[in-house]
Amino acid sequence: MTEVNAYAAHADDQPLAPLTIDRRAPRPDDVAIEILYCGVCHSDLHFAKNDWGLTRYPVVPGHEIVGRVTRVGDDVTRFKPGDVVGVGCMVDSCRTCAACKDDVEQYCLNDFTMTYGSDDRHDGTMTQGGYSESIVVSEHFVLTMPEGIDLPSAAPILCAGITTYSPLRHYGVRKGHKLGVIGMGGLGHMGVKLAKALGAEVTVFTRSEDKVEEAKRHGADHVVISTDEAQMKAVAETYDFMLDTVPVEHDINPYLAALKYDGTHIMVGLINGLEPPVQGANLIFKRRVLAGSLIGGIAETQELLNFCAEHNITCDVEMIDMQNINEAFERMKKGDVHYRFVIDMASLKSTT
Ligand code: NDP
Ligand code: ZN
Repeated sequence: MTEVNAYAAHADDQPLAPLTIDRRAPRPDDVAIEILYCGVCHSDLHFAKNDWGLTRYPVVPGHEIVGRVTRVGDDVTRFKPGDVVGVGCMVDSCRTCAACKDDVEQYCLNDFTMTYGSDDRHDGTMTQGGYSESIVVSEHFVLTMPEGIDLPSAAPILCAGITTYSPLRHYGVRKGHKLGVIGMGGLGHMGVKLAKALGAEVTVFTRSEDKVEEAKRHGADHVVISTDEAQMKAVAETYDFMLDTVPVEHDINPYLAALKYDGTHIMVGLINGLEPPVQGANLIFKRRVLAGSLIGGIAETQELLNFCAEHNITCDVEMIDMQNINEAFERMKKGDVHYRFVIDMASLKSTT
């Protein structure tokens, strides 16, 4: 065991604060990683505030981790000390069920192990995430960071990137498709870049007038201000797909109406119930589909890292020190993120 510095949520009504946690000695298939950067996902905020009713405290958030290998267990074959690697939202799964065999470990029939807030399958301790100096992860769940990729701006690919890429690939989004991306935050801005790289015509739906120019800079072909009823009506029956990244309850009926017949609305943002409810007619009369998608498998995440390196796609990041995480959470709540906070973990070492 090694004691390491971290930042944790201690209660749903408290700011994040320092905590010392134990990291296990590497098991034979483990990789020990010194964390260099960690992205700040809206899920970290949901989890810290117990929005999903799952949280046990104290919990160290963070699942967009980039770091350097410091030690490996005896059975590890793909990594060696000094390698630069990534860890996303999963650190384990059963590896034997149909989903794991299909390389979609996120749908493991025996529940995948989240990077933070899950019980470790071997020793039962609760997993703790990337707002910390180091982490120890089974080799299968460790990604290779492609040569030359900018590391801080690649960290969010490990969640924001794969969560948007996986449904785009699953539904075969390509040239000739019209796609709407709802909410331009961390996930949304990656959704725009990735859908453009796959050839789709992309429209951003945002509440924020000040994001119009930025959306175009990310490659969006069109922008609709979602609070403007006239603009929403003007795009009725236009899109093949909607990628919905909004993290709070919202009315999806106007977005369903903007889909063509046979169009698909893909929820990635909201886990809780929809309010107001979906009008059945918005689905039935046009054979529309309401779908959901959860992160992406390990092989697909590696494919995406390589795709991003090849197409020169990175996240727009604002670097912060670990000590500024509570301010970053406040800004995230207001939708004021352009477009991902990434923690420089050197800040944790220098002050604690
Ligand atoms: P961000 O906070 O970075 O972005 C969310 C965006 O949604 C905002 O920028 C804003 O865009 C829009 N938004 C925010 N609040 C509201 C509101 N009250 N009404 C309407 N729109 C709003 O979050 P992330 O991109 O990091 O995450 C988005 C959601 O996706 C979170 O709920 C997160 O938990 C979830 N998630 C899901 C995953 C999955 O596997 N399915 C994986 C990772 C995250 P604008 O200003 O353009 O309107
Ligand atoms: Zn995330």
